[in-house]
Amino acid sequence: MYEDNHLVARLRAASVGREDDVFVQGQGGRTFGAFFANAERYAALLVARGVVPGDRVAVQVNKSLAALELYIGTVMAGAVFLPLNPDYTSSEVAYFLQDATPHLFVVDPLREAEMQSAVDAAAVRDVLTLDSAGGGTLNDAAITMPAGFHPVPRDADDLAAILYTSGTTGRSKGAMLTHRALASNAETLVNYWRFTPDDVLIHALPIFHTHGLFVATNVVLMVGAAMVFLSKFDLDAIFAAMPTATTLMGVPTFYTRLLDDPRLTKGSTQNMRLFISGSAPLLAQTHTGWTARTGHEILERYGMTETNMNTSNPYEGARKPGTVGLPLPGVEVKIVDDNGAEVGANQIGSIEVRGDNVFAGYWQMPDKTAEELRENGWFITGDLGVRDEDGYISIVGRSKDLIISGGFNVYPKEVESVIDDLPNVLESAVIGLPHPDFGEAVVVVVVARNPALTIDVINTVTADNLARFKCPKRVLIVESLPRNTMGKVQKKALRTEYANLFA
Ligand code: AMP
Repeated sequence: MYEDNHLVARLRAASVGREDDVFVQGQGGRTFGAFFANAERYAALLVARGVVPGDRVAVQVNKSLAALELYIGTVMAGAVFLPLNPDYTSSEVAYFLQDATPHLFVVDPLREAEMQSAVDAAAVRDVLTLDSAGGGTLNDAAITMPAGFHPVPRDADDLAAILYTSGTTGRSKGAMLTHRALASNAETLVNYWRFTPDDVLIHALPIFHTHGLFVATNVVLMVGAAMVFLSKFDLDAIFAAMPTATTLMGVPTFYTRLLDDPRLTKGSTQNMRLFISGSAPLLAQTHTGWTARTGHEILERYGMTETNMNTSNPYEGARKPGTVGLPLPGVEVKIVDDNGAEVGANQIGSIEVRGDNVFAGYWQMPDKTAEELRENGWFITGDLGVRDEDGYISIVGRSKDLIISGGFNVYPKEVESVIDDLPNVLESAVIGLPHPDFGEAVVVVVVARNPALTIDVINTVTADNLARFKCPKRVLIVESLPRNTMGKVQKKALRTEYANLFA
């Protein structure tokens, strides 16, 4: 009955006839039958409230199973799911609502009053509430709707979701994701990572971002596997889940925090078959430290909101620390110079990708879309990368992070790697700051692992290993680096904080 709706049909196919099998453990749990019946009720409710195909449904709620059912229900209704980070303030939400003009906004009841001005400013027609336990006006209304909703037909090219990019520079842009992009990428990942219906994934990621919403959830649904659904990353809950789970998808901070816990051993991870990391760079030392402690090699992959997943280390074969692996089947990846010509092995260039996984453009930003998505389908990721002789790709930074100091290009990752290798360094972030002589000066902000770390040691190791123009003009030792929920270091915040260092 789902066959006319491209994405939902594919996410449902593996679980048809397995209505009583457990899809979700935790948070009350759900069988496949109950999960899809709830999604059908949401879909029926949306249609009853006037949501028509192509309408946006904006959702700013805490992580819950009901929120996941609302995602599927929205797609079943033919509408476009638009999740928003619960941390966004009312003025941030006002921007998203005005930009996306959703028909319906679903918000946590505790924040409904706070968001009223944003709702009014964008003239959003309908507002419903959903709390962390699944309660609120959305469920009060949905409960009266019958299950068995026949999904609204949608083609592969229709939009299923809009996800706003994290907006590290400039205004946040709405990436338009089609049914095809989401379905094809999930299918690719199921095969590449050898998911089967026997897998149990530990889901501890947020569901307003591509990683937790699409990579984790769609892969599990697509193959008809199960998941342990945690409202957030919690060490005790992860250790409790591992003996009966098989896979974990995480951001690098998950892995560093688990490594810091003495409970991480070969024994506690023996039932697990796969640990996957992405969304931010995994330090090579985290990879090797993890292997030493558990016997498992973390599998690192690379993707982004606009493209879903692009590359991955292989399931079988070498997983190279510090690399994001090889292009996924069906994804073309090239590394090019400023003239668009492909560079050779071990040469840094700009990463471009093409494939069914790539988005359809930025919502109502035709100029931005034209700048980044070429007519022939190649998307300019903004990431800088390098390919080794075996074809493995490493990310060396964002093109916007590139520092030009005294006319020389400095790739932050190269400098960070040298500093991160020091035993007393936990992590570092290299940024460019305005400088009267050099234009930009290389500055490193370092978190010590041990108070014995000195600025002199850092200056020595960089002077010994790097050309002079790459060496930091200033070293700052701090308590911690600013990070967003996905574990990405917020270099923009660092640049703002230290903007006047050389003034
Ligand atoms: P987002 O759209 O929030 O998922 O951010 C995408 C960006 O995260 C990419 O363009 C990369 O800069 C970065 N990223 C994702 N995965 C990795 C990875 N495995 N290593 C390094 N950077 C990554």
